[in-house]
Formats: sequence, C-alpha cells, structure tokens
Amino acid sequence: MRVLDSEFAKGFCRMCVDGFYQGWHERNGGNLSYRIKDEEIASVKEELKEDGEWKEIGTSVPALAGEYFMVTGSGKYFRNVEIDPAANICIIKVDDKGENYQIQWGLVNGGRPTSELPSHLMNLEVCKKRNPEIRVVYHCHPANTIALTFVLPLDGDVFTREIWEMATECPVVFPDGIGVVPWMVPGGREIAVATSEIMKKQDVAIWAHHGMFACGTDFDITFGLMHTVEKAAEVLVKVMSMTDRKRQTIEPDMFRALNGPFGIKVNENCLYEKKSDKIGEK
Ligand SMILES: [Zn+2]
Repeated sequence: MRVLDSEFAKGFCRMCVDGFYQGWHERNGGNLSYRIKDEEIASVKEELKEDGEWKEIGTSVPALAGEYFMVTGSGKYFRNVEIDPAANICIIKVDDKGENYQIQWGLVNGGRPTSELPSHLMNLEVCKKRNPEIRVVYHCHPANTIALTFVLPLDGDVFTREIWEMATECPVVFPDGIGVVPWMVPGGREIAVATSEIMKKQDVAIWAHHGMFACGTDFDITFGLMHTVEKAAEVLVKVMSMTDRKRQTIEPDMFRALNGPFGIKVNENCLYEKKSDKIGEK
C-alpha cells in the first residue's frame, strides 16, 4: 500500500487541516507526531527507503528504539499538508539506541522533522510507559489558552481548576488535569524534559506565552482534547472580560460527584478550597 492511501496517514493529514482551520497554526506554527503501529508500518513497507542518513535526535529515547513515527516537517506549514502531504510530513525510524533517526518517507523537497522532535519523542516515550495505547502528540498555538498564561498563575492546579469550572465536560475529558511549563526556549532538550515530566501523569501541558501540547490514543481523541481545553479557555476569557469574580460556579463536591457516573477520578490536587472568589486566586 502507498503511504498516502493508509488510514493513519489520512487521519494525520486531516488533523493538520482541522488544526489549521481552527486558527491554531499561523505560519509554520505547531507540530504533530504519531507512533505508527507495527501492522501499519508493515502495510506501507514497499514505499520506505532505508538508505537515508542517520541524524541525532538531540535526546535519548531508548523505550522507542526501532519504532516508526509520522511527523510534520520543520518550517513546514500545516495549511499545506492537505495539498502536498509528501512535501510537508515524513516517516522516520528511530535507531536501536533511541538516539538517532532516519527519514524513510516524505519531505520530498528536502527538510527535516519538526524542530520539536525531542519534545515529541520524549513525550511519546513517557506516554508509552504509562499507557502503550497513547500514540499521538500534538502541539499548537490556540489563542485563548495562550492569553490565560498572562493572567493566571503558572500553576497547573490553578490552571486546571479555572478551566474545569468553565465546562462540565472538562474534568470528564481530562480528569488528571493540566500541567504548565514556564516560559522556556523552545526546540531543545530542557523544555522537552519539563514537558515530559508533566506527560508522565497528565495528557495536557501548556507552554506559557507559547501554546499547548496534548497526547492521546488516536487523532480524534487528541484533537478533541485540544479542542475541549481551548473551548473552555475561550469561555474563561469571556468571563474574565466581564468580571474578575464569579457569581456561581462548579464547586469541588460537584466535581467529585462526576467520579462515579463517568468512571473517572478527578485530580484532588485541583479541588482545593478557595480563599478568595477572585478568578485565579488559590
Ligand atoms: Zn510552538
């Protein structure tokens, strides 16, 4: 089978396009990675090239040794993925040490994988350890979530609580909550380590004044998670545009009441008793 006829490639490209139309991918912003299943890579083997140069990942991901990934290209625009996927995305293989990669398909006009490859692979590695079904890591620049990083404290528990309160679906969709990485230089190992520390336990990491990372078991779940957080962030931006205090909201025991019916365990760290009714005060 040709790569672009495979369901995983179609799902990958659709997610890029959907993200662009949400307005989350200005210019070359954002990146997406997918850890390809064994049977999926076997089905497209005829199109893979194994003679490319091996290059350093920039970090070490031994638990991903020998695996294949579909990733967006560095400097490539999400809006172009639909019209020419083979020029804007690629399939890479990680070597048996987990330290180098080889491009085996795609980026036909040249280029390299996303500059955030260390973050993507380190996140995929910690996610695989906590749940082998997690295969997708997605990074984008959603405006409302970014806006909140200027007015809420950069504390994951506070961020989670304020965003949870904006929509009942939020604690059901991400009961473990959200982590926050303070401003750091993107593209390197340091921010990759900080993000993967969050992804050991949580599916969402916000990069202050930059954007968001989400992981999930498939494209629908990961895109839906990003969409849910950003929608709730939009509601919070609207509320904060009207007032810095809420008249009423979802209270801690109301969140706890969701555990049974939805089979979840909401993160108790985020259900602190508030000392103030001012939004963002702990
Ligand atoms: Zn970014």
